[in-house]
Amino acid sequence: MMIPAEHQLECRTCGQILDMRDLGQMLSHGQWNRETQRYECQDEPRDVEYTSSRKVGDPIEWTKDKTPINLN
Ligand SMILES: [Zn+2]
Repeated sequence: MMIPAEHQLECRTCGQILDMRDLGQMLSHGQWNRETQRYECQDEPRDVEYTSSRKVGDPIEWTKDKTPINLN
């Protein structure tokens, strides 16, 4: 099946070309990521390009009055 170029959407995770007119396919394959402004699925990511807002392993927690508490 040929998809006209203007209706093609490449899934940023697995690289599959989806038809933007086919809403069922769009919804079943993945979802639009508002943060990254990209369409992504749950497949293995091709490139590691995460916008990490959460810091993994960060021991500092912030209180309501913006005082950092070191949990270590
Ligand atoms: Zn995909």
